[in-house]
Amino acid sequence: MSEESDRELEELLAQAPVPTRRPTVAALEERLYRPVPVLDHGFVRVVDYMGDDAAIVQAARVSYGKGTRSVNTDRGLIRYLMRHRHTTPFEMCEIKLHVKLPIFVARQWIRHRTANVNEYSARYSILDREFYMPRAEDLAAQASSNRQGRGDVLSAEQSERVLALLRRDAMQCYDTYETLLNDKGDGEPRDPGEPQLARELARMDLTLAYYTQWYWKIDLHNFLHFLSLRIDKHAQYEIRVYGEAMAAIAKAWCPHAWDAFDDYRLKGAVLSGAELDILRAALAGTDVAAKIEASKALSAREKRELLDKLAAEAARDFTEDVKGPARS
Ligand SMILES: Cc1cc2nc3c(=O)[nH]c(=O)nc-3n(C[C@H](O)[C@H](O)[C@H](O)COP(=O)(O)OP(=O)(O)OC[C@H]3O[C@@H](n4cnc5c(N)ncnc54)[C@H](O)[C@@H]3O)c2cc1C
Repeated sequence: MSEESDRELEELLAQAPVPTRRPTVAALEERLYRPVPVLDHGFVRVVDYMGDDAAIVQAARVSYGKGTRSVNTDRGLIRYLMRHRHTTPFEMCEIKLHVKLPIFVARQWIRHRTANVNEYSARYSILDREFYMPRAEDLAAQASSNRQGRGDVLSAEQSERVLALLRRDAMQCYDTYETLLNDKGDGEPRDPGEPQLARELARMDLTLAYYTQWYWKIDLHNFLHFLSLRIDKHAQYEIRVYGEAMAAIAKAWCPHAWDAFDDYRLKGAVLSGAELDILRAALAGTDVAAKIEASKALSAREKRELLDKLAAEAARDFTEDVKGPARS
């Protein structure tokens, strides 16, 4: 954080809380505005949010009306919605984050199209000399089994050489950037005999390791979707650490929704028809119904649903052209 941002943070935290009738979440109020450090210069901080677990329930009750009697507690209703992919109630909650991240991480992040983004303009402002330098233990060779991943960690001498190359290029590129800008910081040229290249052009020489910043606003449904992809072990480490920082935010914000997401999405798995057949064959002859019945973790409804999932389904044929009653 720069001195200016530190001052801004102090001012925000010094503000007296304003009474409001809108729902607030104490655990998130605690985190509001405070940057969570990520990588060597990055951070994530909550700037604003709307809604909480109760907002999900409130929206769901509009769609179910009196029908909610059977799913009686908020936690149970949220689990039901998550389990059955009834997703729109989760869209009633929104969060706005301020994120500082290397440009190569931003390129992966921006693929998530369901957020609203406003990025720091390097056409308008001058970027700082801030670039990502991995820790030696995060430098690894190309994986041989997975083309999108890392293999063995480099030796100490190898990582020293790699880091020296990365640092040299990043510094050199920034030197060139400054030369091209030819700006003392107040708009006046450092070298009056040379041109001042437009900021929108000068920036093209910086490497992808340089940091950018943006405000990122997203609803809870799409936030959880983002997290499911980006805290997964297959996601690149440098975006995963942002995902992990944001997972802690999501958990503090909507704890019931987070628990349901953790149970059904993160710890759960989707099985193909062939995989389910293997599971059914393995369970044949065992008293699976009794085991399910004895579970203390599942609700009565979840027990019924699990038995349903494990029951073999009749094959369905979708080749018929005419559906419904025969035509005369
Ligand atoms: C491990 C990993 C590896 C990856 N590798 C590559 C790669 O090699 N190359 C590459 O290009 N990308 C890659 N990606 C990016 C990936 O293909 C997705 O673009 C990215 O994860 C965003 O996912 P999303 O579309 O589900 O998210 P969002 O854009 O947030 O969309 C959320 C959901 O909204 C719906 N949606 C949004 N927009 C549309 C639309 N226009 N049409 C229909 N439905 C829509 C979809 O259901 C989508 O799942 C990778 C991602 C991961 C996690």
